[in-house]
Amino acid sequence: MKQGSVYLVGAGPGDAGLLTLKGKEALEQADVVIYDRLVNVKLLNLAPPAAELIYVGKSPERHTLRQDEINALLVEKARAGLRVVRLKGGDPFVFGRGGEEIQTLAEAGIPYRVVPGITSAIAAPAYAGIPLTHRHFTSSVAFITGNEEPGKEDSSIAWDKLATGAGTLVFLMGVQNLPRIATELVRHGRSLQTPVAVIYRGTTPEQRVVEGTLADIADRVAAAGITNPATIIVGEVAGLREKLAWAERQELFGRRVLVTRARHQASILTRELEALGAEAVEVPVIKFTAPGDAYAAVDRAMEQIATYAWLIFTSANGVDFFFRRFLAEKQRDIRELGTARLAAIGPQTAACLRRLGLRVDCQAREYRAEGLFEELARFGVEGRKLLLARAEVAREVLPDSLRSLGATVDEVPVYRTLPAAENAPALRELLAIHRIDAVTFTSSSTAYNFAALAGGDVKELMRGVAAVSIGPVTSQALKDIGLAPTVEASEYTIPGLVRALVNYFQGM
Ligand code: SAH
Repeated sequence: MKQGSVYLVGAGPGDAGLLTLKGKEALEQADVVIYDRLVNVKLLNLAPPAAELIYVGKSPERHTLRQDEINALLVEKARAGLRVVRLKGGDPFVFGRGGEEIQTLAEAGIPYRVVPGITSAIAAPAYAGIPLTHRHFTSSVAFITGNEEPGKEDSSIAWDKLATGAGTLVFLMGVQNLPRIATELVRHGRSLQTPVAVIYRGTTPEQRVVEGTLADIADRVAAAGITNPATIIVGEVAGLREKLAWAERQELFGRRVLVTRARHQASILTRELEALGAEAVEVPVIKFTAPGDAYAAVDRAMEQIATYAWLIFTSANGVDFFFRRFLAEKQRDIRELGTARLAAIGPQTAACLRRLGLRVDCQAREYRAEGLFEELARFGVEGRKLLLARAEVAREVLPDSLRSLGATVDEVPVYRTLPAAENAPALRELLAIHRIDAVTFTSSSTAYNFAALAGGDVKELMRGVAAVSIGPVTSQALKDIGLAPTVEASEYTIPGLVRALVNYFQGM
């Protein structure tokens, strides 16, 4: 039997992007993932679909495993020959009981590796604009657990030494004890005027920071209703935040935005949203497949490819599927396109063609069928033979208007759009718990399939959630499903859609 092992992996403080590359690799190889409460569940998607996911964190309504039970579980799974990832919030060795877990493994003779994580003790202040050390203010930092009651007789924390012993003090798990922590520090010589910042859920869209001094921080935190998980920073550097805060100043900070595009296309939108501080939640409502039997039409067109004056593409997908068929499956050669010119509906589609080394002869100014028609018409299409490679179901305006100018148009389906029905439960749950601020619609099919997957009353489900449309055609589809678009992009591209979203939230 193969030897099992345990990877003790730090998941980082919340922002999924703060996982290490090694942590990601370990997750990608995992048979079992045993994870805690403060772990961003998005990271679980990195594990193979067949991996077993076991939650062992504490929460009021769920059964919790005691530490010895967790240790036993690690041993049991590893002894069964499995690759176990023990995924813990922040860093496993910073108040994470990671030490105890690998002690058990060492005693049981089970091989283990430790992948450190970015601890909230450094990440939360970083996202709050607080440098833990700074040449002008402090050259030492201490990490302290705040869940030991200060003032108790047998405290393992030497408050007298600690209060002035390090320039910056970072308390974890300390919100409940904050009044006593502040009192104790002052009692042992720290100035009442020392700046303090309390960072709630740092690095996540819910990040909130309360600032004050040792004199008033406890009252301010109580007034703000802040609880754990929060990190407390005591020291001169906490006062730098006023000038250095950056996370909350991002245009889309704290916004949760649902991305409904197909998985392989989502990343561009996700990246742009995240670059502005939003949390992008990918729940694809559509997916694409080859058109099945309908390939007959495109195959016939490919046989006589050199006879076309124009090859017209109205989506990046159209380009991908067409050339996959032409090059990979039919073993044809790009040079066989001969003198055919190429038309693209927008910049994404054009970029796909260019990646194949092809020049784009015509690109729409307004990125929809009407706009492409307008540009193509300038070239004079009368008596010309045109090939339009696109989705199985599409609007007729482009072929119809080209024909009205006397062109011969061969419309061939190169891909099929299907509802991603497997994501329906995730979509319904997200909408039901009101975790989403906006839903992005990047094509009519995202709108129609969103409605199909959401089921029920779409308008009701979308109450208080912005419906963001990439352009007028998609907006019409939204109206068809009974949803008025909240905002529409003025340039019908992904960057245009992101700009519309930013404008919308700034106007709120
Ligand atoms: N091993 C973890 C800490 C676990 S103890 C780490 O390295 O981050 C749990 C405490 O960590 C919480 O009570 C809180 O003080 C802190 N914490 C965890 N996530 C946090 C976050 N996103 N923002 C602020 N503090 C956080």
